[in-house]
Formats: sequence, C-alpha cells, structure tokens
Amino acid sequence: MRSVTILGATGSVGESAFDLLMRAGGPEAWRTVALTGGRNIARLAEMAKALRAELAVTAYPELLADLRQALQGSGIAASAGAAAIDEAAARPSDWTLSAIVGAAGLAPGLQVLERGGTLALANKETLVAAGRLVMTTAERTKARILPVDSEHSAIFQLLDAESSSSVEGVTITASGGAFRDWPLEKLPFATVAEASCHPNWAMGQRITVDSASMFNKALEVIEAREFFGTEPDRIKVVIHPQSIIHAMVSFTDGSSVAHLGMPDMRHAIGYALNWPERAPLPVARLDLVALGQLTFRAPDEIRWPALRLAREVIATGGAAGAVLNAAKEQALDDFLAGRIRFTDMAAAVEHALDHAAGEAGFTQSPADLQTALAWDGLARRAAHSWKGAA
Ligand code: NAD
Ligand code: MG
Repeated sequence: MRSVTILGATGSVGESAFDLLMRAGGPEAWRTVALTGGRNIARLAEMAKALRAELAVTAYPELLADLRQALQGSGIAASAGAAAIDEAAARPSDWTLSAIVGAAGLAPGLQVLERGGTLALANKETLVAAGRLVMTTAERTKARILPVDSEHSAIFQLLDAESSSSVEGVTITASGGAFRDWPLEKLPFATVAEASCHPNWAMGQRITVDSASMFNKALEVIEAREFFGTEPDRIKVVIHPQSIIHAMVSFTDGSSVAHLGMPDMRHAIGYALNWPERAPLPVARLDLVALGQLTFRAPDEIRWPALRLAREVIATGGAAGAVLNAAKEQALDDFLAGRIRFTDMAAAVEHALDHAAGEAGFTQSPADLQTALAWDGLARRAAHSWKGAA
C-alpha cells in the first residue's frame, strides 16, 4: 500500500488532494502517515479519521488540546507547532504533498528532501525563497520534486521525453486576476473583498489576492527559473483570461506544444500523485466548441509591477527571492489588515528589496535554512516599515 502525507491538508489544495485520495479508495487504498493543518481543527480531525491517518498536526500549539479532544477514541496521534510539522514531514512516506501556504512550507519541505522522499510541491514559496538550497538538497539525497502548481505541472508534462537542448522557451499563462480590466486609477482603492474574488480558480485567499496583484505570477516565473533552470529571457508570461492553456513549451524547430485543461487543481495534484503513470481523474473534460474562443494579451507592467520585480529578482539572484517572497507576505498581511492600499504592496516589496540590497551577503543564495529565514525576517521588517504601513 502506498503511503502519503499531506502538509496543509485543510487548505484549498489540501482539500483537493483529500478528495482524490478518498475517491481512489480512501483508507483501504492509502496508508496516511500524517495530515497537518492550522486553525480548522474540526476539519483536520474529520479528514484524519476519514483517511485513518497515523498522525494529525496543527501548526498552533494552543490548539493541541482541541485537536486531542476531536480525535479522542480514534487512535490517531496528535501534535502541534512548527517543529511537530517538521517531524511529521520527516516521517517516511512514499508521497508527500506540500500544500502549506507561505514560507512556513520551506522547513517541512526540506525535511522531505533530506530523507530522499518524493515531494509534490504546491508550495511555490519553497522554491522562491531558497531555490538553490532546495534543488541541491534534492540532488544530494536523490529526492524527487514533482511540481503541483498548474503551470509548472503543465511544463513538466510537456518536457517529458524532450531533450532540453531543443527547448527554446516556456510560456506561462495568467488569468489576469480580479483587476484585469479595472481602470488603473481605481486600483489603489481596491478592497480586500474585491481582491479576494478570482474570475476562474477557487483557491485560498492569499493566492487569490496574489493573482490580482500578479505577485502569484511573479513567484511562478521565479519558480520556473529555479525548478527548470530556464533562462529568464526564455520565460514568457501571457494574459489568458479563460485559464484553459496553463503553459506552453516552444522548441527550436519552431513548433510549440501547449497544455490545456479546465481550471481544476485536481488535475495537477492527480498528475503528481499518479506520476509517472496517468490515471483517470474526476475533472471536467474540455469542450472547445462550448468554450468558443481562447484569447491572449501582453501583460501590462504598469498595472502589475510584480512582474518587473520578478525579473529584477532573477537578475540579482542571491537572497533576492527570499526577500521578495517574505516582503510580499508581509505586504499582503498589511493589505488584508487594512494598513496599506492594494497598490502599496508592490511599493513595500520594492522598498524591502532596496533595503536588503545594502546588506552584506545579499548576492549569495542562502546555503541553509537559517540563512533563508534570516533574510525572510529582515524582509518582513523592511516591508512593514515602508512608509505607508503601520
Ligand atoms: P490555503 O490558505 O487554502 O491553505 C493553506 C494550508 O496551510 C492550510 O491547511 C493551513 O492550515 C496551512 N497553514 C497556514 N499557515 C500555516 C503555517 N504557518 N504553518 C503550517 N501550516 C500552515 O492555501 P492554498 O490556496 O491551498 O495554497 C497552498 C499552497 O499551494 C500555496 O503555496 C499556494 O501558492 C499554492 N498553490 C495553490 C493553488 C490553489 O489552487 N489554491 C494553486 C497553485 C499553487
Ligand atoms: Mg499557478
């Protein structure tokens, strides 16, 4: 029986993975080593019971008693806190999904790689914050990383069996998010509620707002650079409002191959779960005639300065990814809390990058978790101290 672990089981990606496991035989077919979650204790306990998990972990120590209570009589062990999530990630398991949101996913992801495990990676922040460290760790331990971000899963599928020397470039698409068609002068006044509505994808709130600001695509450009090693001038972003084409790979002979599918994360998760095979998945099938048309336009870097910042971060290298990621998380917190305006997020991130550039060691990629987290802390403080915040 294959064993699985889901880090961030109670989130949007985690729920989709849970759905796939339950449809594919549930506890009769899978041995669930651990499920981790955050504040939604009732749901975490429910999922752990349904899959008969060996361990359930909440990120919050103050909720451990509640979790124990919810699991009473089930025989499922409970633990809490960041170290307990690391410990869960370190337990042997054939397939571990990292569906935690934010830089909190970095440490447990590294635990999976350290034990030479297979890491299905939805948590793009892991690669943005410490791409070099993550990839060299995987190389050293022979761990495998399977991308779960839909665009990267698409590229991964398209590159299968292709020689890398025949690849000329990759294109990832972006829906354009909530404010694709807003007049620019309205953007500063966008509310949290308005930024939290995605035209095509149902996702967690943070990535939804990141889609409106295009910071999600900025992270994905860096993720593609780190994971596939693609030169930055060969990674293109195209606005594609229908979110049907997820990515396209172009070859030296002038042909391009695109990956299409309805916007449903169960495809990318299921692909990683069944890799290297394909198995039937419960996702809606494409009907091109019903769709009628697919449209594309160039991304506007005035509307979305995050895309320019991503290119600058790749050109700088070193700790710039860790700084961009953490500064973005802080700026997002400040926007969600009403402390700064929507358009201030990019300004706060740029301020943090400028500030960090003056610090010693900025041009060196973090060689260990501690160094990555030190840049993370510095970036959060710098972004928060930007003049618009607090
Ligand atoms: P979400 O907010 O819905 O869920 C996040 C999960 O992480 C929850 O289980 C939560 O309890 C847990 N979590 C939150 N903070 C934590 C912490 N500090 N420590 C440990 N666990 C914590 O997020 P999501 O939308 O499912 O996204 C998860 C990841 O997948 C993100 O990195 C996101 O960028 C990426 N991703 C999501 C989608 C999507 O469709 N939602 C698509 C592609 C990539
Ligand atoms: Mg994506």
